[in-house]
Amino acid sequence: MSTIDWPARANALTISIRNFIDGRYTAISVGEGMLDKHSPRDGCLLYQFGSGTADDVNRAVANAQAAFDDGRWRSLPLSQRQAVLHKLAVLVETHKEELALYESLDVGKPISQALNGDIPSVAHHLRNSADLADKLLAPSGADGTNFTFQLRKPIGVVGAIVGWNFPLSLAVTKIGPALVMGNSLVLKPSEFTSLSAGRLAELALEAGVPAGVFNVVHGAGKSVGEALSQHPDVGLLTFTGSSATGKQIMMAAGQSNMKRVILECGGKSPYLVFEDCPDDLDFIAANIVSDAFANQGAVCSASTRLLVQESLLDKLLPRIVTETEKIIPQDPLQPDTSFGAIINEVHLNKVLAYIERGKRDGATLITGGNRITVTTSDGVSNGYYIKPAIFTDVDPNQEIAQEEIFGPVLSIITFKNEAEAIELANNSRYGLAACAATTNLSRAHRLVQALNAGTVAIIGTSTMGPGGFADIGVEPHRESGLGCEFGLAGLAAYTISSVAYMVT
Ligand code: NAD
Repeated sequence: MSTIDWPARANALTISIRNFIDGRYTAISVGEGMLDKHSPRDGCLLYQFGSGTADDVNRAVANAQAAFDDGRWRSLPLSQRQAVLHKLAVLVETHKEELALYESLDVGKPISQALNGDIPSVAHHLRNSADLADKLLAPSGADGTNFTFQLRKPIGVVGAIVGWNFPLSLAVTKIGPALVMGNSLVLKPSEFTSLSAGRLAELALEAGVPAGVFNVVHGAGKSVGEALSQHPDVGLLTFTGSSATGKQIMMAAGQSNMKRVILECGGKSPYLVFEDCPDDLDFIAANIVSDAFANQGAVCSASTRLLVQESLLDKLLPRIVTETEKIIPQDPLQPDTSFGAIINEVHLNKVLAYIERGKRDGATLITGGNRITVTTSDGVSNGYYIKPAIFTDVDPNQEIAQEEIFGPVLSIITFKNEAEAIELANNSRYGLAACAATTNLSRAHRLVQALNAGTVAIIGTSTMGPGGFADIGVEPHRESGLGCEFGLAGLAAYTISSVAYMVT
């Protein structure tokens, strides 16, 4: 466990949020007014910055366009761009404590998880994009007497808009592929998590990404986000956030220049537990709880709809409750904290309101769901903490079973047989992920086919190996998004191709 005094490091920070354009920090326009960022861990004002304007976006896009046009980055040999991304991954690791502190302070996530989860995944995504790039660019071959090949080119200026739950990890899933394929980039982080993006752009400059290629604009979604998604010189808008915003971005893309879009949006993922699940029910319960409540429940793919075969409920439910009640929300900057704070007061109140309506609509709250007070080592206790909530007797069509709460709320529903389980699982406008615990391989294959989900995890054993990262292209279904992220298909989305037919 880390022996670093994180609160002391946080107190020593001098925070100034600025845009990063053409390799330099520049002021953010005040626009509609100042945005206040309160610390999730203690409720104190952490920083303030302007809400930004379309002018800020125009300046960033113009610089990105100039950098693209003169070829300072895209004309470099691919091997050189790959080497730069590898160097950036090393720099991220070198500065891991600084970056992890930003993530923990901004999001309210436990510092140990930022350090040992978020930052390694950032470095991994950067290396992975670099390593896949030459595989994507292999020529496609000959056709009779004609030589035919597909030339993959960078698109131009990529706009990247991301949400707040994993600020740096979400950003690099865009930055890695955009940069290695030779594009220029304008990144807009969430206005709730503005600490780390500029620093990453600075490290990219140090790694060898030329000035103007990787720009950051801060501000509100309404001003800066909209201006970026409507900008006529942005060729691809890649987005991670809510489905509601994703739909607005799709409209803006159509109304402006028909730019390409990649949309990674919300979810309400089911976790199906069958009678023939692995015998170790303690393991299954622990897996359910960690899946539902990781990152304070703010994970797009979190399994927040638990579907349990009726005959198993009496044995499984007490174990789930015991496991959940072990979770103690604590100051994120304490090294042994495993469950931190909610991002801000507005979101905390939104989660609490869902819980109230869940009770009103007839579900039974069997544990948690209440705000609690946590006092930090500095003696402040205005942070945003909530105990994870579990509901039973949930109607599959009621609000808490249908809407993405993006907080620690688990709804439990029972089913009689596989057909009913599939029907319940697919009773959602989302289709991001699903998980099923069964040792029946035939059932597992049927589920993968039948479930409307971009990722289906089958838990067929209680001796799981050390997890890994998804390096295969992932496609969200239904209103969870559009397009593909990760793997070769994900990388291809950051290019545009010309097919050449050469008769020589
Ligand atoms: P959000 O949609 O409110 O905001 C996301 C980003 O969009 C922010 O930067 C915001 O400023 C910007 N934005 C807001 N309105 C905009 C507009 N009109 N035009 C352009 N940009 C605009 O989402 P959030 O609350 O920050 O993030 C939570 C959501 O993200 C959840 O729904 C979660 O499931 C989803 N998410 C999805 C994935 C995935 O991979 N599918 C991963 C993480 C989070």
